[in-house]
Amino acid sequence: MSSPGRAPLTRLAPTPSGFLHEGNRLNFRATADLAASLGATLALRIDDADATRYRREYAEDIFVTLREMAISWTVGPRDVDDFERHWTQRTKTEYYRDALRQAIASGLPVYACACSRAQQSGPASKGCAGGCRTRSLALEPGRTALRVTIDAGTQVMLGDEVVPLAEAMGDFVIWRRDDLPAYQLVSVVEDRDLGVTHIVRGRDLLPSSAAQVHLARWTDAQNVADAVYVHHGLVTDASGAKLSKSTLARATRREGDR
Ligand SMILES: [Zn+2]
Repeated sequence: MSSPGRAPLTRLAPTPSGFLHEGNRLNFRATADLAASLGATLALRIDDADATRYRREYAEDIFVTLREMAISWTVGPRDVDDFERHWTQRTKTEYYRDALRQAIASGLPVYACACSRAQQSGPASKGCAGGCRTRSLALEPGRTALRVTIDAGTQVMLGDEVVPLAEAMGDFVIWRRDDLPAYQLVSVVEDRDLGVTHIVRGRDLLPSSAAQVHLARWTDAQNVADAVYVHHGLVTDASGAKLSKSTLARATRREGDR
């Protein structure tokens, strides 16, 4: 088993930065089906730490969609009012900042990067564009973001897949220039706190999964490193049901393999 002694738990973790699309629904279905097949607890976590993009109607859309899909969960907000009152991440910035401080104290290698968004665009947009790694810049809200140093050749194992992290993510941002936690930090901390054992994501998020497994050792998130990862395709061409069946089989096989 991947996480000895832990009760199986998986989560729906949408980001309310826009209305949901077919890929989100596919992910909801695959996650709910996996939870049912494992007898796992299903949690709903709405990742709204990016306060700049949050809109209440996006959160509302999540609850409406889950209701339409007849998906129920036992951990997490019941509706949009409950979410905004008791579950929002927008009031947890200092909590994530503490997690970052602890990670750095534990030896996570980071540096401040002053490259502008314009410098980051283009084909070589992964990581810092301007050699900030060796400039010893100060972390300064509004001027610099904090990046994690990913040495060339760093590899992350996800089940039977090897992700070359330097190529896939580069020196990714862990704390944003606008003084907010980056998605990778929020996700690993929240998955740690939930005690997640299974993580179901679209294939496009494979590099993010690798980044978070990489962060796990400095964030006391062993369960994130040990979790069973399932990355599904993003197309529903056959049918949602067919895809979730193949997803399910894969998760089960991986569990057995360990
Ligand atoms: Zn830079």
